[in-house]
Amino acid sequence: MDFSVPAHVQDITRRVRQFVDLEVIPFEAHVDEHIDGLTPESLADLRAKAKAEGIFAPQLPKELGGLGLTLEEIVPVFEAAGRSTLGPLALNCSAPDEGNMHLLHMFATPEQAEHYLKPLAAGETRSGFAMTEPAPGAGSDPNMLQTRAVRDGDDWVINGHKWFTSGADGAAFLIIMAVTNPDVPTHKGATIFLTPIDSQGIDIIRRVPIMGGNDPGGHCEIKFHDLRLPNSAILGEEGQGFALTQKRLGPARLTHCMRWTGIAQRALEIATQYATEREAFGSALSGHQSIQWMLADSATELHAGRLMIQHTAWLLANGNDARQESSMCKVFVAESVNKVLDRAIQICGAKGISRDLPLSRWFEAARAFRIYDGASEVHRMVIARQVVKQFGGQVS
Ligand SMILES: Cc1cc2nc3c(=O)[nH]c(=O)nc-3n(C[C@H](O)[C@H](O)[C@H](O)COP(=O)(O)OP(=O)(O)OC[C@H]3O[C@@H](n4cnc5c(N)ncnc54)[C@H](O)[C@@H]3O)c2cc1C
Repeated sequence: MDFSVPAHVQDITRRVRQFVDLEVIPFEAHVDEHIDGLTPESLADLRAKAKAEGIFAPQLPKELGGLGLTLEEIVPVFEAAGRSTLGPLALNCSAPDEGNMHLLHMFATPEQAEHYLKPLAAGETRSGFAMTEPAPGAGSDPNMLQTRAVRDGDDWVINGHKWFTSGADGAAFLIIMAVTNPDVPTHKGATIFLTPIDSQGIDIIRRVPIMGGNDPGGHCEIKFHDLRLPNSAILGEEGQGFALTQKRLGPARLTHCMRWTGIAQRALEIATQYATEREAFGSALSGHQSIQWMLADSATELHAGRLMIQHTAWLLANGNDARQESSMCKVFVAESVNKVLDRAIQICGAKGISRDLPLSRWFEAARAFRIYDGASEVHRMVIARQVVKQFGGQVS
């Protein structure tokens, strides 16, 4: 086992951290002022600076303007970027674009790559991934997919209702999951389509108001009314929608964990600083055992989460499906990040609740992490299936 971080990755991590501290964190004070957290001008300015610093898009191959780092190598880099929720945006490695770029890089035709991937990789556009539907459609159970694409001559005609398509308002294009063959099980009969967002038949109804919002493009409710797309709009092949999505979701879950570890680490640092400076009952707060235990538990959970991320990244990078490990990692990191933030607020008392510190904003935003990319209960179901299978049993 070798846990050492290569020198070039250490160097990039250090420079990303410095960039986030000096250039990005100052924007946090204004995050509530803008519907997207940042103005388009500020975002473009930050991205230009990140390019000039040679730290833009660490996860992308060099031919797409990135740094060409592997999944294992991006672990500390994404954590450093994630020390601010604005950091991954500045570096063009934020959700959902980062996962969408990964998907397109794996499966887009040269024409699709030219049209959709290149501008997205350059940070000139944004994208949305439209999978989840309101009841009775697909949520935790993707087999409940209701959106239909029906053949009409050389075209496909799509009708359906999606919601929580992150980033859709102002995006250049959507990636849509729709059933193309209702006569086979959904996981074999669904297909992914790419479409410019200004195509006729796409109706963005609203940004769904959420706790911890101000994410670029919001989380949108969308209806498709007779959206007509050519066969060339299909990503991969007809019927491959779920297989392709699995390739996107494994690494995307892990990159969420990396970024949120950055926020949780910073929360621990803020709490520790407050605990060493603030006095109560004759000593600094850090002198009281109950505070020490909170700090110790947070540091321990962060360490365990990092190891789980590193191990799962290693498994995926070496061609393993790592389904169970990535579920374990998602559950553990999503839940421990929420606990670390909760403890940090408790340690900082009223100041923790205030907007003078970023903790309360992060706390609101982190709650959704236990739901998106698979709710904790669903990942526990996946883990339990494997555990029970090992003993010859079955879980429905
Ligand atoms: C901030 C945010 C951003 C998102 N971005 C996107 C996006 O860009 N694109 C997209 O397509 N979707 C997106 N989603 C949707 C997300 O993927 C879904 O919310 C998630 O898959 C759960 O589906 P659901 O909300 O319909 O929950 P439901 O399926 O209605 O489930 C509700 C709850 O039931 C419980 N549950 C479900 N199944 C089980 C089970 N087997 N055993 C026990 N309990 C269970 C869980 O606690 C779950 O939270 C986003 C969601 C949020 C909150």
